[in-house]
Amino acid sequence: MWIDTHVHFDAPEFDATRANDWTRARDAGVSAQIVPAVSPDNFETVRAHSVQFSNTFYALGIHPMYVMGLPKKVSIELLRSAVVRSMNDDKFIAIGEIGLDGFVSDVDWDTQVWFLREQLNIAREFDLPVLLHVRRSVDKVSKYLREFNIQKGIAHAFNGSFEQAYAYIEMGLHLGFGGTLTFERARQIRRLASELPLSSLVIETDAPDIPPTWLNAGEHNYSHHLPRIAHTLAELRGLSHEVLAQSLWQNTLNALPRLAQVLPADI
Ligand SMILES: [Zn+2]
Repeated sequence: MWIDTHVHFDAPEFDATRANDWTRARDAGVSAQIVPAVSPDNFETVRAHSVQFSNTFYALGIHPMYVMGLPKKVSIELLRSAVVRSMNDDKFIAIGEIGLDGFVSDVDWDTQVWFLREQLNIAREFDLPVLLHVRRSVDKVSKYLREFNIQKGIAHAFNGSFEQAYAYIEMGLHLGFGGTLTFERARQIRRLASELPLSSLVIETDAPDIPPTWLNAGEHNYSHHLPRIAHTLAELRGLSHEVLAQSLWQNTLNALPRLAQVLPADI
């Protein structure tokens, strides 16, 4: 019924319980999950999980918070060869998680930009959508999306102004919302999620991160919380579960064309 469009299912937090976690999410109504890589170190893991677990799809990319200390050219070559190997794999659906992080202070900005541009170049070359990390970097990332003429993908955990949101939507991108919208104090995100065109939204948990309001601080998030997060979104928009689920499903397939070749158009 729901697609968790961003979950770090390979994270060590899930090592002891992974099979159970996925069963629990499926039982709660999560039909599929998308797992982005963060570094060449986990390319093989996310791919292996996609083989092992049903309806688990993966992206390949290097996250801006993981770029420090990586050998630049070698890492991009590793990504490129992993992408070449995965192009015939119908579980492989995007380049990600890539982007810029303007919040962390210990990751060199020029290095982040170098990795982003190299990876957008690969996305362009293979005509793949992107899964984007845009924390405090919405405008900066959009500049590079334009440079490489990127027209498909998801800006995950979106948090920006309406103007910034529409700039992404007009480029053809979708915006990911998750547990943050369950907090009443998150006024701007709730306004965005309520008022932006429904066709531009997708939903995610970002588990084990971004716990929704009903978890205690420091508790891990899990994919099985996605339907309850969606329930909050349905309430905010005054929509039935069914209408919201069908729309978000379709939006996700629109954002990720390779997924649309594998999953049915109707839930
Ligand atoms: Zn992430």
